[in-house]
Formats: sequence, structure tokens, C-alpha cells
Amino acid sequence: MNVTIPATKADWQALAETLIPCLESRAFIDGAFVDATSGETFATVNPATGETLAYVASCDAADAELAVSCARAAHARGEWARLAPGRRKQTLLKLAELMEAHQHELALLDTLDMGKPISSSLGDINGAIGCLRYTAEGIDKVYGEVAPTGEDSLGLVLREPLGVVAAIVPWNFPLMMTAWKIAPALAAGNSVILKPSEKSPLSALRLASLAREAGIPRGVFQVLPGFGHTVGKDLALSMQVDCLAFTGSTAVGKQLMQYAGQSNLKRVYLECGGKSPNIVFADCKNLGQVARHAAAAIFHNQGEVCIAGSRLLVENAIRKEFVDKVVEAAKTMQPGDPLDPQSFMGAMVDEAQYRRVLDYIEQGREEGARLRSGGQVLEGPGLFIPPTIFDGVTPAMAISREEIFGPVLAVFGFDSEEEAVAMANDSDYGLAAGLWSQDIDRIMRVARRLQSGQVFVNNWAGPDMTVPFGGVKQSGNGRDKSLHALTEYTELKTVWMSLAP
Ligand code: NAD
Repeated sequence: MNVTIPATKADWQALAETLIPCLESRAFIDGAFVDATSGETFATVNPATGETLAYVASCDAADAELAVSCARAAHARGEWARLAPGRRKQTLLKLAELMEAHQHELALLDTLDMGKPISSSLGDINGAIGCLRYTAEGIDKVYGEVAPTGEDSLGLVLREPLGVVAAIVPWNFPLMMTAWKIAPALAAGNSVILKPSEKSPLSALRLASLAREAGIPRGVFQVLPGFGHTVGKDLALSMQVDCLAFTGSTAVGKQLMQYAGQSNLKRVYLECGGKSPNIVFADCKNLGQVARHAAAAIFHNQGEVCIAGSRLLVENAIRKEFVDKVVEAAKTMQPGDPLDPQSFMGAMVDEAQYRRVLDYIEQGREEGARLRSGGQVLEGPGLFIPPTIFDGVTPAMAISREEIFGPVLAVFGFDSEEEAVAMANDSDYGLAAGLWSQDIDRIMRVARRLQSGQVFVNNWAGPDMTVPFGGVKQSGNGRDKSLHALTEYTELKTVWMSLAP
């Protein structure tokens, strides 16, 4: 599809000026945009400028109840749930096409709402479109089973939709995290209620209008903007929701499991936080290039990335030389205007996140880590933090254990493979790990021993839609992407038939 993408900062600013006055800010329930039942709204603010973009419907228990009953009714009507998978595929492919036609607008909404650079947002939207296409194409290729029985029986294992899925997502990749949840849940025939983050609701609402245009029936896809402790919790406690598909912090993930236990034992799929180790062995090739990857692994998206390579473990034989190169690479990754296509980093999402990251930087200093780069507050109205690197970090320090979710890198040294593995696994989290070496035996040994949902060898975050994404330990229990995500949103049903001889 030929879509003209704005090329310069001025082009994006012009587009923003035309877009902002017409933003959709109401909830999307049963196929229509409506105000919250209470009439309440909340402001969504551009963190790069402080400008209020819109006042968005603040949904609560009444809206959750309404949306859940509409979702259940849609599921019972079956116009989506019982549709042949190949027909659902056509509708989802149509949605992907519409998203592609509006990609610049969707990207701009995410950039304005949460401060990420426009070039990153465009990449995210392409990722979301790719996810929708991959999943849609998969749905009519997932088969049930015929059990190995004697001649007097036929045992069928059918895959059915779960029913109503509530997808609760974060703000750091607003539309891409949304796609990772809603694409497989919808493809499998479920009715989906999306609760976007209160910090980034705008692209989800635009997506709702595209979903309607694509032909997704009313009640099958709904969007409830609002806060976690109100509408998020109401959905999680609902007796009529069959599954929570969550991406967000470990603390909230733990709460959702409790809500499921307090209500109807709904399934809870969690994609939570991380503190990912990136291990560099002295035998790796081209240290300069690896250093640039190591810097991008933490500074991409302002460090607001679940799989950020926030712990850099470097073999002591090359540590001094390597860290110097990472510091050099970081100089080229300074934050800038998110609307400038040349900016590598943008603004932190809001004042609370900004303060939280600065507090961790202060703590790192106080605990005796050596500041090699960044750390200072930048002048200006926006919430910008430069790439910050601490060397000489020890495992007891807060900056080595806690997820900062900002552009702060903690560097450690190690002397042996054994020590590197032990340090890497010394974490409550297990989302991702990186490994740089030329020794294939070592690569396989270490990859197997790392407690992590995914291991990147001589790359960071390279994988595409074909492989699952998710964590172990307190990084969660779910898997996004790949056909494994699709089957998570189906229920197995056994049909056992007795056959006459
Ligand atoms: P968060 O946990 O604060 O919020 C996530 C979502 O949960 C939001 O929509 C929020 O409104 C909602 N929520 C909050 N409290 C709730 C409650 N009591 N009941 C129901 N819903 C509630 O996380 P965040 O700050 O939006 O995002 C950052 C976190 O997300 C980081 O920890 C990051 O690592 C994680 N994350 C993980 C992945 C992954 O795939 N593993 C991907 C992206 C982000």
C-alpha cells in the first residue's frame, strides 16, 4: 500500500495541529462512541510539551458492567464467535489494511500521548499491523485433534473461544502491546474489551473506529479508557470475564491474580516487568558495534521497555575498553523533540515516571556506583532524561535489582562464564537476556542455563512474529506472538463418541 509518510518535523507538527482538535476521546461500547456513564473525564497530556491533548472518558464500574454484558451478548449471538475462522481472517486483514492506510496518524497519536520518537512509533505501528496479519493468517491453520481410540469410539479435541477477554495494557508501546493481545484473542473468536493505559488512550480509541469500519461486529471489540484502580479492577473482578490478558508491572500482575481468585478463577496471562542481563564475553567480534547494540538495548524508547538490557555484564578483560565504547555510543542517543524523525530518544511518559527515574539515579550515586554518563536534569519544558550509565554496580544496589523503566544502565564486571550466569540469574525477573560471543559451545551452554523467556544471541530483541514473547519468574506466565499466543485464547473441549460396531 502506498502511504505518504510525513518526512520532516514540520510535516509532523502540521499533521498534529490538524489532528488534535478532532481527537476521539469517548469510550467505545457496543459499536458506538459514548461518554462515561458518570460523565467524568481525565486529561491526557503530551509529556514533551505539557500540553493537554484531550479530556478522555473516565470509565468506571458502570461502564465495565455495560461493556461486559454487551460482550457476552455478542458472544452468545455468535456472529463473530461462530463465524468460520477464514471469514474472521478476512475482517482482521481488512483491519490491518485500514491501520496501514492510517499508520502515520496512529503513530502520531502514540508519540503525542507518551513522548516516544515518531520514528519509533512508526516502527511500533508496523509491528502492530504485522502482528494482526500474522495472527489472522494463522487462525484457519490451527487444527483440533482426533484422539487415538479403538474402533468403538471417536475422540475429538475441539478448540473453542474462551468467551470474553479483558485486555489490560501499558503505555510504553500503546498500540503494539494492544495488537499483541487483541489480534490472537479476536482471531480465536473471543469478544474483547480493551483497557488502554490512562497515560496513552488515544490510539486505542482510533483503533476502535477502524475496527468498526473493518466490520468487526458490535460488542466484539470495545475500548474502555480509564484508570487501573477503577475500570481495570472492575473488569478483573467481573464474574462474566473469562480471561485477563495483561501487560504491565509485576505489582499489578500479582493483584490481577488475586482478583481472579476472588471472582471466577478466570485465566490470567501476565506479561510483566524485567531487569534483563546483557552478557558480553571477551571473545565477541567488533566491540564497537556490540557497544552500540548494548547502548540501544537500554536507551531505545527512553529505556521504557520491558526487555530493556538494563544490566550490562562485561568480562573484566575487556571491561574498560568496552564501557568507554558504550559511553561513546550513548552520546549519539540523546533525547530530542519526539516529532523530529532524527530523535533517538523522546520524553519520559509523565512527571511521576520522570521523578521515579531521577530518584533511582540519585540512589545509584548515593550507593557508590560510578556515574560514567548522563544523570543530569535537562533544561526545558519537556520531561527529558539523558542516557545514564553507572559502572561499578554491585548486586546489592537498588539500581541493579529493581526495574527502573528509564534510560539508566548498570554495568557489572565478571571473570568467568560461571560467574556471568550466576549474576544474570540473580534477579526476581526472567524476561530476556542477551549473549555476545563467537564460541558456539559457550553460546549453547549459557543460553540453556539462563533463566529467561528469551535469549538473544549476538543481537538484542531481534525476533519477529514467528516466535513467542514472554517471561519466567516474576516476569509473568503468558506468551504473546507466534501460534502459541493464538492457542492461549482457545479452550480445549473433548467430544467423546461411542460408535456402533
Ligand atoms: P502498570 O502495571 O502500572 O499498568 C498497566 C495497566 O494496568 C494499565 O492499563 C493500568 O491502568 C492497569 N492497572 C493498574 N492497576 C490496576 C488494577 N489494580 N487493576 C486492573 N488494572 C490495573 O504498568 P505500566 O506503568 O502501564 O507499564 C510499565 C510496566 O509494564 C513495566 O513494568 C514493564 O516492564 C511492563 N511491560 C511488560 C511487557 C512484557 O511484555 N512483559 C511489555 C511492556 C511493558
